[in-house]
Amino acid sequence: MTTIERFAPSPTGYLHLGHAYSALMAWRSSQTTKGKFYLRIEDLDSTRSKEQFTIAIVEDLNRLGINWDPPVIYQSNRHPIYTEQLSKLIRMGLCYPCKCTRKDIQESLEAPNMPLTGQNRKLIYPGTCRNRPFSEMTKGDAIRLNISKVTDYFGGLAYFPNLNFTELGPTNMGVHRVTPDFLQGNFGDIVLARKDIGTSYHLAVVIDDAYMGITNVTRGEDIFDSTYIHRLLIELLELPVPTWTHHQLIRDEAGKRLAKRTPSWTLRTLWDKGLNTEEIIAIAKKQIS
Ligand code: GLU
Repeated sequence: MTTIERFAPSPTGYLHLGHAYSALMAWRSSQTTKGKFYLRIEDLDSTRSKEQFTIAIVEDLNRLGINWDPPVIYQSNRHPIYTEQLSKLIRMGLCYPCKCTRKDIQESLEAPNMPLTGQNRKLIYPGTCRNRPFSEMTKGDAIRLNISKVTDYFGGLAYFPNLNFTELGPTNMGVHRVTPDFLQGNFGDIVLARKDIGTSYHLAVVIDDAYMGITNVTRGEDIFDSTYIHRLLIELLELPVPTWTHHQLIRDEAGKRLAKRTPSWTLRTLWDKGLNTEEIIAIAKKQIS
């Protein structure tokens, strides 16, 4: 089957070995199937995204021998589309404006009747603003998805067995079911529009992947959990459902995942050390095997 793949880096730093692995995997999959490969620059966060990194991404991918089909998509140009889709979810009665600050959320979670168990749990929003109407919305509000309303929207629990996604990556290979309990227990009422940027990573990714006709999403395993949210949004917005391939993450000698902040693993550093592209690919493969 022909696959349409993409590489979607955020221009907040130089690409490292892990990015090279990800981009090459997606690109090769599109090549072997005579499909298409697109580049999407995820520059929604205007304070952290820098033009210099976008230029560097293009240069580094070229140097890896990766080419892509036009056009390059810039998320910063697509705000009206995200707003339009968000309005749809608002009209469906599934959202509410949230005025809580990070501090408010933290404090409400520290209340004695809400013990913090597990790392994720303390980040789950307790639903303080759930009953706030849009008539009370002010400029600085975020917009959240009311997860408990989602079940009603689908007409009850019986709908959920159909809400699946197929993972082709090595660690979580198989079909995964999205259930209200899982969504509530792991994510709660997720932010669909951040107050500063008017959208969110989750919303933008599903809208863009559908717009670009992506049939398989290749990306790092660290984003696997978000796929449950993405699958839900795809269903609500009636978008086509791709498959997902989450690849293993490349780690440093201490077992820590590579970060853009660590200059020793950037492609630029490796090239400067005299490594060629094949050697870089070989290191990447060795790191995860
Ligand atoms: N922009 C994300 C990153 O650089 C990737 C998002 C995705 O592939 O869905 O980590």
